Amino acid sequence: MSARPLVVVGGFKHELNSFARGITTLEDIRRAGYYAEGPDIFDAPRSKRPELAAIREIAEREGIDLVPTVHFHALFAGGPIEHELYEHAKALIVGAVLEHRDRLTGIMLPIHGATVTTREDDPEGDLLATLRAIVGPDIPIVATFDTHVHGTARMAAAADALVGFKTQPHTDHYEAATQGMEILVRAMRGEIHPVTTHRKIRMLTSAERHDTSHQPMKGLIDASRVMERRPGVLAVSIFTTQPWMDLPEVGWSVEVVTDGDRSLGRATADELARMAWEIRDEFLVHKSSLPAALDRAASSGLRPTIFADGADSTSAGGNGDGTELLEALLARPDRIDALLTITDAAAVERCVAAGLGAELELPVGGTLTELFHPVRVRGRVIALALGDMQLDPPWSPTDLGRMALLRVGSIDVVLSERKAWHLDTVVYRHMGRELDRYQVIQVKSAGGFRFRYEALAAEIIEIATIGPCDSDLPRLPFRRISRPLWPFDAGLAEPWEDDLG
Ligand SMILES: [Zn+2]
Repeated sequence: MSARPLVVVGGFKHELNSFARGITTLEDIRRAGYYAEGPDIFDAPRSKRPELAAIREIAEREGIDLVPTVHFHALFAGGPIEHELYEHAKALIVGAVLEHRDRLTGIMLPIHGATVTTREDDPEGDLLATLRAIVGPDIPIVATFDTHVHGTARMAAAADALVGFKTQPHTDHYEAATQGMEILVRAMRGEIHPVTTHRKIRMLTSAERHDTSHQPMKGLIDASRVMERRPGVLAVSIFTTQPWMDLPEVGWSVEVVTDGDRSLGRATADELARMAWEIRDEFLVHKSSLPAALDRAASSGLRPTIFADGADSTSAGGNGDGTELLEALLARPDRIDALLTITDAAAVERCVAAGLGAELELPVGGTLTELFHPVRVRGRVIALALGDMQLDPPWSPTDLGRMALLRVGSIDVVLSERKAWHLDTVVYRHMGRELDRYQVIQVKSAGGFRFRYEALAAEIIEIATIGPCDSDLPRLPFRRISRPLWPFDAGLAEPWEDDLG
């Protein structure tokens, strides 16, 4: 008979974008991300699955038996996942809990928190509530989250502890899972009794200002770390949420885990939430018009100027088929050396058929996203490639299908069958591009690109394009969000209904 503690581990990561078309399938996840069941969920190095590595290492150190169930990660935000995929994952996790009910001492869920299925707005909340109903109040349940979580009251009510990342772009998966797992271990031993306080804030802000190495976000993260050192406080997380989700509970939240002290949790959560609310204007994004940005790049003499095209952010759910920058470049009388990406399978097919070195005239882009339109270009096929590429850690390998580099005058357009990842420079390196050769490089990312691009950029300009990840949130067709919500209701005086008591 073993007296070793036993923890069921499982989860899934996907992030909805309500303004992108389509459904995220299991095939999409396997191609850009990963899907694993059973012991295979641990079958990757720490650099690839840092949360699972942290959980396994702590379990080994503490003499805990793990029951691995399922884990998957959709690299790109996008349309909802198929409900059957969620039901299958839920059945595996619930099945393991039921099977090991007699020996079970804890449940650890490294999840995302912004997953939506074709039938369920809050699968993480549903999973947590289902597990709580099965195990009752005495088995601790801890979940770790991405900061883009769609934080719901149901999640917070069902879990003992919710622990979020403290970085955007995310680089602290390992640390967050370590923090969560250590809370779980201490709770299993009866040393602590974690309780989570959930404070929803009536604000929704675009991702450009969520970067945790810059203000205003840095100040809030620093404050959360200071609060975590207070006696009785176990974890303090700020969930800035994925803003392009048209859901009733979308918006910022603060989650505070204390050792059984709900009034301390409430006071701490409200203090941090109010701090965020007071500086909300600093999260508004003011971007450059395309003509102004191009004038600047043409006259500055700097190489390269990064044009952050956040409205078509592929990691946030854009399809990468936006053409507004290409069109603006073509309309100019001067020649700007520019490097762009556009998702367009038909255009790649045309380039492949024409062959290396061929000249051709064709429409590119604007076929996947309603807000965009194709642009007709005449260019030469400079390179062809297969788009199977290793991304910088911790991101999974991804496959863009076939790729072509089309030279249109002074503009190099990287065409790919599937959308490119823009939080690192791999897509351009993969096509053999030397980045400092260009005056303008397009990066289809709202803010996450800075982590890799800032060091090489001579200048960064955020361009005011339109798209499914538009930073001007009130001009997007939201229908289901709960009002009042800032900045949709600009005159909103209080961040929540019941004020500090
Ligand atoms: Zn995220």
